[in-house]
Amino acid sequence: MNFLNSIFTVFKNIYDHLSRLQRAVIVVALAVMLMALVMPRTDPKPEIVMLPLDLEAATQQDDDLTPADNDEPESHLHYVVAKGDTLGKIFEFLRVPQSTLYELLEADVNVLALDTIRPGHQLEFRFDDQERLTRFTFKSGLTYRVDFNRTEKGDFEFKEHIIEGEHRSEVFVGSVEGNLHESMQRAGISLAEASSVSGVLKTRMNFRRDLRPGDQFQLILSRQYVEGQYTGNSKIEGFRYLGKRRELSVFSFDGNFFDEKGRSLEKAFQRIPLLKRYRISSSFNPRRLHPVTRAIRPHNGTDFATPMRTPVVAAGDGVVNRVVRHRYAGLYIEIQHGSKYRTRYLHLNKAYVRKGQKVSRGQKIALTGNSGRSTGPHLHYEFHINKRPVNPMKAKIPEVKTIARKHRDKFKQMVKTLTARMSQYASKQQQNAKNG
Ligand SMILES: [Zn+2]
Repeated sequence: MNFLNSIFTVFKNIYDHLSRLQRAVIVVALAVMLMALVMPRTDPKPEIVMLPLDLEAATQQDDDLTPADNDEPESHLHYVVAKGDTLGKIFEFLRVPQSTLYELLEADVNVLALDTIRPGHQLEFRFDDQERLTRFTFKSGLTYRVDFNRTEKGDFEFKEHIIEGEHRSEVFVGSVEGNLHESMQRAGISLAEASSVSGVLKTRMNFRRDLRPGDQFQLILSRQYVEGQYTGNSKIEGFRYLGKRRELSVFSFDGNFFDEKGRSLEKAFQRIPLLKRYRISSSFNPRRLHPVTRAIRPHNGTDFATPMRTPVVAAGDGVVNRVVRHRYAGLYIEIQHGSKYRTRYLHLNKAYVRKGQKVSRGQKIALTGNSGRSTGPHLHYEFHINKRPVNPMKAKIPEVKTIARKHRDKFKQMVKTLTARMSQYASKQQQNAKNG
């Protein structure tokens, strides 16, 4: 009992020296732990990890306590986003002022990363000794992180980190039994990968009519690894379907998909998502200075000076990813076009599409407006390649239908190499099957 008593005294000593925020965090953490013990776990509860080293700042002056081996004068909080969480709720829960959240959203208007929060994403908060948020980090998966750092002027600047990792080229071979997705999963291909294959094939293949049991497929994927762990991101390098009724091949070249003859499988984009040309009131500029603060505030899109309620059309075929009302971006839409491209349309007045909806190029999706922080009616249009914004007016976007003459030899060579690799792998597998 003496032992327990002395532990208690040490903890009380530490507790007495803590700041208000640190106490609050401990109390909240204990409450969450208690709730987790008492309540039946139906859905995931917010998870808070208090880093014990942070207590040391408060105990530094104490001579009778173990000296700190880390003299970080900040407190530090980790939060894992749970089901049903919103940023507003999380900030309220952690007692971070809503005004701080608005400051973050203002900095985030350029990346809109915070609109993607989903259960499992990780947030990290750092506070100074005044309990003011100095740094906020958003992490999704192994490959994406955004840091928001408070500047001397008091606002936040963001820094986006996209971790490239390494790509490994892997071959998968299998035969059809049941539907294509199930058959592919049996061959070690993930459901997401199988869906992207069928997404690429959909213009060429009818998955009900063309499939026969025993048909063979071969796939080469370039999978991304970070620290030896597969991130879930992969790219299709080549695919062959050798069926009784249907044979076809698909190869990726220069970021687009072609059949073995070099004919494009993708539909083109239109350069401007409007029915007419309008004056460009502000161009894409990654190094734009803020007119007032002189801080670098990238302009990640092209602004078209349109009258109010001008129809906006989808720049290409795709699936609506987001329809969101944002404090600064206003009502905006994001469309995903395959795995590589996405487009965004900001400051809208009205959206005609909803999340998850399929849209085709030229389809009316919205009316322009003046919502969010905007100085007048206009359309802010963004075009992203591999998650990075590019100049929509100048970027290389798939408008071509065939491979340029000067690249044809290179393409033919690539098709030959990949086809040989897949066939070799398939025959090796058949050999193995026979032997045992
Ligand atoms: Zn703009």
